Amino acid sequence: MHGSAEAGSTPGASDAPAGGSGLLGSQLATRRRNIRAGAFGILAVAVLALLVTYGWNSWQLRRLQLSGAEISTVNLTHALADQASSAFKMVDTVLVGMVNRVEQDGLAASDKDALYALMMDHLAELPAMQGLFIYDRAGKWIVNSAGRSYNGRNNADRAYFQHHRDFPDRGVHIGAPIIGRTSGAWVIPVSRRLQDADGRFSGVVLATIKVDFFRRIYEKIALRPGGKLILALKDGTQLLAIPFSRSDIGARLGATPLFSELAASLPEGGLVETSSRRQDLIHAVGQAGDYPVLLAVARSKDHVLAPWRESVLAAGTALFALAACLGAMGVYLVRQMHERDGLEQELITAKTTLESLNASLLTQSQNDPLTGLFNRRYVEAALEREIAQARRDGGMLAALMIDVDHFKKYNDSYGHLAGDATLIEVARTVQRGACRPRDVAGRFGGEEFVVLLPATDLAGAAVVAETIRADLQRRGLAHRAAPGGLLSLSIGVACIAPAQCPDAANTLLDRADGALYAAKANGRNRVDCDDRRGADSAGKAIGARLRSW
Ligand code: GH3
Ligand code: MG
Ligand code: MG
Repeated sequence: MHGSAEAGSTPGASDAPAGGSGLLGSQLATRRRNIRAGAFGILAVAVLALLVTYGWNSWQLRRLQLSGAEISTVNLTHALADQASSAFKMVDTVLVGMVNRVEQDGLAASDKDALYALMMDHLAELPAMQGLFIYDRAGKWIVNSAGRSYNGRNNADRAYFQHHRDFPDRGVHIGAPIIGRTSGAWVIPVSRRLQDADGRFSGVVLATIKVDFFRRIYEKIALRPGGKLILALKDGTQLLAIPFSRSDIGARLGATPLFSELAASLPEGGLVETSSRRQDLIHAVGQAGDYPVLLAVARSKDHVLAPWRESVLAAGTALFALAACLGAMGVYLVRQMHERDGLEQELITAKTTLESLNASLLTQSQNDPLTGLFNRRYVEAALEREIAQARRDGGMLAALMIDVDHFKKYNDSYGHLAGDATLIEVARTVQRGACRPRDVAGRFGGEEFVVLLPATDLAGAAVVAETIRADLQRRGLAHRAAPGGLLSLSIGVACIAPAQCPDAANTLLDRADGALYAAKANGRNRVDCDDRRGADSAGKAIGARLRSW
């Protein structure tokens, strides 16, 4: 509408955009928040996926490294157990030959020189062997590869001797390492029992294997730190351990729960792979053929995994640096978005401020500051608009020219400020009368008001005028200097058909003004109409007539 219901308010203020920018701002902020949350989410998922993939890969690599080490440990154990078995087999073959020969001939009748020569031949062939010996049933030295005379020497104190003497078992016997009486070196005794035709014990054939023979082979194997290689008898007596220590030779392994446990669980195939039994070790135990000799290889998982740890650490550091970079980039991007949001918000605020400033400027340019009604300029512009509209649709256009009676006297008797307040009251009354949406109520200047009533004929306009006049009368505003003692309005009413009136604006206002003049002349506090229909005629007072809606 083109006027407010209450004077003092701004009729044009309703044209200002209300809350549009605020809504847009909050929608944008929500969208931005969603985008930010989305960006954060995507980044977090990407970093998480990267870390999970890396963790999974690293774990797989670790498994591969461990299983590779397990396989190589088992293979090494196999190979060394086979090698030990071969070494014992060769020596044992020599022993079997010697036993057969001596038992055939009988120990007493044997050709000692020939036996000695045979022993030397065997020694030359088998580098593992330290010496060969034949003892009689009392342990006396009969023949040996060292060529020493017996001279009362006796080996009946040796465990292997006592074993063969006390047990009729004809199998090979491998004993705990001893220091050879001829060599002074640590040797492993491998022996067989001699017996006469009646099966009675008649002596022992002994071969000794140099502990150093195995040591030289085992020390060529690259065992990482923490690794261990043990050659032991099945009863837990160590023959040799690598890393080498003299004190390990002959030491009991029984105290090592792992070894005894493994030895007890040796399967038919003679090899047990026990990587799952200990957290810190990968190990395998194998038997040297049918001989009561075990070979154990143990490797420290810690050292096996050292290269894996190094690569995981290096790649992990790089990955974490990458994740940190991604995180920093994400934070930077989100911060940028935040700043942009801030700028956008500032722009929206500026736009809102500008819009309300525009609205207020518009109000100021269209409204009278004292009464809030439209000002003269706006009324004149509205008049042109309505004339154009009426010309298009062939309708009528009416105008009321309203003037406060004896207002100079009012000011004189109540003061200018009271006059201003009264003008506001009058404006409200005028505004109430111009109640249709297209009606325009304005202050024309001083104590004069104008009302434009589009699509209204003279009779209708007269009704509106009378309503306004009577309304003010009803209010009973005192005016002691006026003849009736009350404030009153004189209203001139005019109506034209702009389609038939070339100078419609001036004509309408002039006629309304003329009617007002007539109202003044006819005694004031009245409505006079210009009822010319093309011809001049004096205004005439009318009573209440309904205008057409
Ligand atoms: P008439 O009945 O013939 O119209 O007599 P009148 O005194 O109302 O008319 P006149 O034109 O002689 O005086 C108009 C007065 O209105 C003069 C001026 O003091 C007063 N007036 C005009 N504008 C304002 C205003 O904004 N505030 C106040 N308080 N008075 C105003
Ligand atoms: Mg006047
Ligand atoms: Mg006046």
